[in-house]
Amino acid sequence: MEAAQHEFRLRMVDLEQQYLRLKSDIDAALAAAVADSRYINGPEVGLFAQELGVALGGIQVLPCGNGTDALQLALMALELQPGDEVITTAFSFAATAEVIALLGLKPVFADIDAQTFNIDPASVAALIGPRTRVLLPVHLFGQAADMEALMALAAAHKLWVVEDVAQALGATCRFNGRDQALGTIGHIGCTSFFPSKNLGGFGDGGACFTRQAHLAQRIRSLATHGSEQQYLHTRIGINSRLDTLQAAILRAKLPHLNDFIARRRAVAAVYQQELGHCPLLTLPFEQSGALHTYNQYTLRVAKGQRAALQERLQAAGVPSRIYYPLALHQQPAFAALAGPVALPEAEAASREVLSLPMHTEMLSGEAAYIARNVRRCAEECALNPSL
Ligand SMILES: *Cc1c(COP(=O)(O)O)cnc(C)c1O
Repeated sequence: MEAAQHEFRLRMVDLEQQYLRLKSDIDAALAAAVADSRYINGPEVGLFAQELGVALGGIQVLPCGNGTDALQLALMALELQPGDEVITTAFSFAATAEVIALLGLKPVFADIDAQTFNIDPASVAALIGPRTRVLLPVHLFGQAADMEALMALAAAHKLWVVEDVAQALGATCRFNGRDQALGTIGHIGCTSFFPSKNLGGFGDGGACFTRQAHLAQRIRSLATHGSEQQYLHTRIGINSRLDTLQAAILRAKLPHLNDFIARRRAVAAVYQQELGHCPLLTLPFEQSGALHTYNQYTLRVAKGQRAALQERLQAAGVPSRIYYPLALHQQPAFAALAGPVALPEAEAASREVLSLPMHTEMLSGEAAYIARNVRRCAEECALNPSL
């Protein structure tokens, strides 16, 4: 058995090392923005939006305060009626369902695909009804939901599609015969620049993407107290801005986004290689024709051994996390809205998933050490199952 004491500092996420590696660029960007002192809507905000829009293949980017606001602004921009239904995945971070409910809309939870953890188009199809207005897929853990199928359903039923790309910025999938950036396929894309996301700031940040000029104009207005010119408020909006300082940092980091993704994929490749044919474990599934960006590397642990495995890993100094321990329809906040639905795949995922450390600064030796310990612990759990 390997000693618990080792030279590595294993962490789920390592923002400190990434900062140190990019320090000169980031410090210069921050110093310039501070010297300029236009802290609200400074020039960096517009420049970052422009540059990200180009990086995503040419789309309007509307920055805002965080990813949750981006989702809220997107739904507000669609001018829905109270009680209108938004079909979304039952297996995601709470923000996705929260904004739907906050706006007086009804979240309708669809089940997921067992392999990708993403919303299952067959489940969505069965839930579309007369009040359905929006499909809200989440590209979970860094990999595309089935956009071909979802966009076809939306077209057939005249529905809006809002993509939650908070965990998958920079990921692509094959759509209409070419690789397209996630978040740019539906009517509106929503992302987050939370520090641990694929492109993270040093605090909160988010953005909406759209190709439709009227939606872009509405989102911009809604994020600015519903005004289009100063002190004329044409709709009831909110205050949601990306700070100039965050934009300056994100601008400095944006040229590195593809490298960040390559580094995440390199960690995943080590895990994938070292953990093949390991008892109890099902490794992440990579769809062909889509780039998985591994915002999370999420395994499934069979036979009720997740807690036992996590405990053994902890003893070996290997951190792990459960994203997410409850499906959304099982959360106390949403259970009443969801009603007594059974979504077996989402529920099974919530019992079985385990995410391993994943970040851009992990050394291949660290990834190998983690994987070896995961294998050893899984083998021990398989031989000595705890009940
Ligand atoms: C992080 C996240 C959000 C919310 O982003 P914030 O910037 O934290 O508000 C929304 N949806 C998903 C799937 C996320 O992972």
